[in-house]
Amino acid sequence: MEDRPGKLVVISGPSGVGKTTLLRRLLADLSSLVPSVSATTRPPRTGERDGVDYHFIPLDEFERRRAVGEFLECCQVYGRQHWYGTLVAEVAPRLAAGKWVVLEIDVEGTLSMLGRYPQAITIFVEPAHPDQLLERLKGRGTESPDAMARRLEVARRELHEAHRYKHRVVNENVETALAEIKGVLASEGFEDAAGGERQRHTPTATPPNVSRPTPTHAP
Ligand code: 5GP
Repeated sequence: MEDRPGKLVVISGPSGVGKTTLLRRLLADLSSLVPSVSATTRPPRTGERDGVDYHFIPLDEFERRRAVGEFLECCQVYGRQHWYGTLVAEVAPRLAAGKWVVLEIDVEGTLSMLGRYPQAITIFVEPAHPDQLLERLKGRGTESPDAMARRLEVARRELHEAHRYKHRVVNENVETALAEIKGVLASEGFEDAAGGERQRHTPTATPPNVSRPTPTHAP
């Protein structure tokens, strides 16, 4: 057990906003930041590995583990027919060891998790303009028009909830957004272990509304 317990960092944002790239870059740059691997009932996609991308578990196991309180939060993510959840066992031991643990979860999961960890650092990644999501989803070329329309509907709902997050970062450009997120973490007291040096991330010249703390977590 460390003297200083770690912190929970939650990153959310609509599909197509570029969260996954940002998170990958963040984890590569900051060695003291550790990811939490979620559990899900959805089947793995090509290239996804069990225990790395997700813990892929069947619905009956998910329900059993949910009933005995193994999840910090879990929900049937809106617009998908599958369950997703954060396991207490993924998070609690790492926090106790002084790590900063990052969750990439949806808005509903974040709000229910805040009941237990109100001090979590919540970051919402949003697009610079609404068309950005459509362009990214089209660019992926993996979605049918129907699926794309569903994702955009979900995105609209999520953007509505962005004000519930403590920090908001606009992802117009990956480098700038990454610097903004590092700036948020530094402002929350994050120190990277690499070389024992504190990471200093001065927010770059971005518009003043790019990362704006919102006053409180709404209930
Ligand atoms: P995908 O199936 O594309 O990997 O993820 C779909 C959605 O599930 C994403 O919006 C992601 O944020 C959310 N998600 C992934 N893991 C969790 C989790 O543990 N809890 C919750 N609430 N949402 C999750």
